[in-house]
Amino acid sequence: ARPRVVVIGGGSGGGTVARYIAKDSDGAVDVTLIEPTKRYYTCYFSNLYLGGFWGYDALGHGYEGIAAAGVNVVHDWAIGVDRDARTVTLASGASVPYDKLVVAPGIDFVDNAVPGWDVTKQSLMPHAYKSGTQVQLLKNQIENMRDGGTFCMVAPPNPYRCPPGPGERVSMVAHMLSESNPTAKILVVDPKENFSKQALFEEGWAKHYPGMVTRIGPDFGGANVEVRPDAMEVVIDGQVEKVDVCNVIPAQKAGKIAELAGLTNDAGWAPVTPSDMRSTMDENVFVLGDAAQQGAMPKSGFSANSQAKVVANVVRGELTGSRIFPARYSNTCWSLIATDDGVKVGASYEAGENQIESVSSFISQTGEEADLRRQTYEESIGWYNGIVADIFG
Ligand code: FAD
Repeated sequence: ARPRVVVIGGGSGGGTVARYIAKDSDGAVDVTLIEPTKRYYTCYFSNLYLGGFWGYDALGHGYEGIAAAGVNVVHDWAIGVDRDARTVTLASGASVPYDKLVVAPGIDFVDNAVPGWDVTKQSLMPHAYKSGTQVQLLKNQIENMRDGGTFCMVAPPNPYRCPPGPGERVSMVAHMLSESNPTAKILVVDPKENFSKQALFEEGWAKHYPGMVTRIGPDFGGANVEVRPDAMEVVIDGQVEKVDVCNVIPAQKAGKIAELAGLTNDAGWAPVTPSDMRSTMDENVFVLGDAAQQGAMPKSGFSANSQAKVVANVVRGELTGSRIFPARYSNTCWSLIATDDGVKVGASYEAGENQIESVSSFISQTGEEADLRRQTYEESIGWYNGIVADIFG
C-alpha cells in the first residue's frame, strides 16, 4: 500500500504541503487534506479589500487545483488525533489513518485575552483576523459609521499572525475614511511598546491622514483594556470611551486541534525542530505555519508556504527515499499605506541549533521616493498572484 500522509488545515501552509507532496511524488504517496471550508479567503490583501483596492471575490480560492494534483480533499473538521494509533478523527465520525501527519490549523484566540470579548461577540466587535466573512462585516460597519465617528482597534500582544497586519489595517481604514468620512477618528489601543514597521506607518499616517490616527501604547494604558460590546464601549485604564466600530484582535495561540493533539506547550504554540518543522512531541508529526513555535520567522502566509516546501521535501524523502535538502526559509511582508505607497520587510532564514534564525534581512526606509513605493506595491500584487497559484495550483 502507498504510504499515507494526512494534512489538517487547507490554508497557506497545509494547502501548499498537500499539493507539493502529491505532485512531487507522482502519486507514490497517498495524501488526504482535511479542511472544513470549500473556499479559502486569504487574510492577505483583506486589508486592501477594506481600503477599496481589492474585491472580496478576488480573495477566494477553491480546492480544485489541489484535488487535481492528486490530493484527496475532505471537507470536514478534524476533531481529534490518536498519535499512538496514528489516526485522525473527523467531525463526521470517520477515522483517517496516517504514516505522517502535518498539522497546519492556523490560529485560535486566547480565551478572555480582552475582558468582555469572546467569539460570541464577534458580530458586534469583529476580529476579522481569520479567513472568512468577518472582514466583510467589518467593512460594512465602517462604511455605515456615523459622520465623525470613531473606529477603534484593540491590537494584539506578540506573537500574533502578520506583525504588520494591524498597522496596514489602520492605514487602509484611514484611506477609506479619508474619502468617505473625513472627520472620523481612528483610535488604536496597543499593549506593545513598539510595532512592526512603526516608523514607516507613522510617517505614512502623518503624511496621508494627518490628525486621524491616535495610538495609545502601554505607557498610557494600552495594555489595560476591556470592552463592552453591547454598549460599544472600550475601557482603557479605567477610562470609558464610546466608539462606533471596534475591531478586537485578541491574543493568539495555535489552532485548537494542535492542542487537542497534545502538540502545544504552555505558551499555546506547537514547538518544532528548526531543520524540518517536526513536532518536538512526536517524530511522525509536523506542524507548520502560524501554529508552530519555530523561532525568528513571523507568522505569515509567506512563511507558512516556505515552511510547507521544507516539510514536503522531508516527508516525501522519508516515505519514498527521494533526496532531502537542507532547510532554507524566507519571508517578505508587504503593506500598503495609501494609494501606490507600498512598503516591505523581509528576511531569509536557516535552521539554528534550537530555532530558526534570520541570516539576512531588509526593510523599506522612511522618506523613499514615490516611484520606489509604487514599485513595491506592484511587487506585492505579483507576490499575491504567485503565492495563491503556488498553494492552490
Ligand atoms: P491558515 O491560512 O489560517 O489556514 C488554516 C486552515 O486550517 C484554515 O483554512 C482552517 O479552516 C483550517 N482548520 C483549522 N482548524 C481545523 C481543524 N480542526 N480541522 C481541519 N481544518 C482546520 N501573510 C502574508 O504573508 N502576507 C500578508 O500580506 C499578510 N497579510 C495579512 C493581513 C491580515 C489582516 C491577516 C489577519 C493576516 C495576514 N497574513 C499575511 C498572515 C497569513 O494570513 C497567515 O499567517 C497564514 O494564513 C498562515 O497560514 P496557516 O496555514 O498557518 O493558517
